[in-house]
Amino acid sequence: MPTLHDTPEGTTHSFPPLRIKNMCGEKYHYLTVLSDWLPSVRKGGSTRWLCECRCGNKIYATRDHLIQGNTKSCGCFKKKIKSEQMKKNIGSKNHNWTGDDASYGAIHLWIHRHKRKPKKCQMCNKRARLDAANISGKYERDIHDFLWLCRKCHMKSDGRLKSLIIRNKQYGK
Ligand SMILES: [Zn+2]
Ligand SMILES: [Zn+2]
Repeated sequence: MPTLHDTPEGTTHSFPPLRIKNMCGEKYHYLTVLSDWLPSVRKGGSTRWLCECRCGNKIYATRDHLIQGNTKSCGCFKKKIKSEQMKKNIGSKNHNWTGDDASYGAIHLWIHRHKRKPKKCQMCNKRARLDAANISGKYERDIHDFLWLCRKCHMKSDGRLKSLIIRNKQYGK
């Protein structure tokens, strides 16, 4: 007979009867199955196992959820993924803001306001049609991160100076 003791969750058993596979000590992602388990309340339901998460929290999870990977942690794993995704989203927002037209126009206006367009290319000093070239590729509102370059210099300075973000043709002058 398994030994019984009471917890806030109900009666737990320190080891399961033979008909239930003993999962004690098995590891699923962040969780390690402890010896305590709860019998299912519903008929045909799954036994819930007490698991200790890597972070120290203890939760009950069913065998199915553990094996299928539905339950990977006490919830801290999902939180971690979520916060990483949020960080990514914020990062990509910053990075892509030249991608949509509104932002494209916004930085165009901004650069014209803050960095006067010279008559000559800032690299070769030749008179030509000039594009504002972003140096770092970050498209931050930093005038030092932009140069007015002729098409030739712009193409030559491959790598970091990739983007022709402002085209004279498009805005006249
Ligand atoms: Zn956890
Ligand atoms: Zn040039």
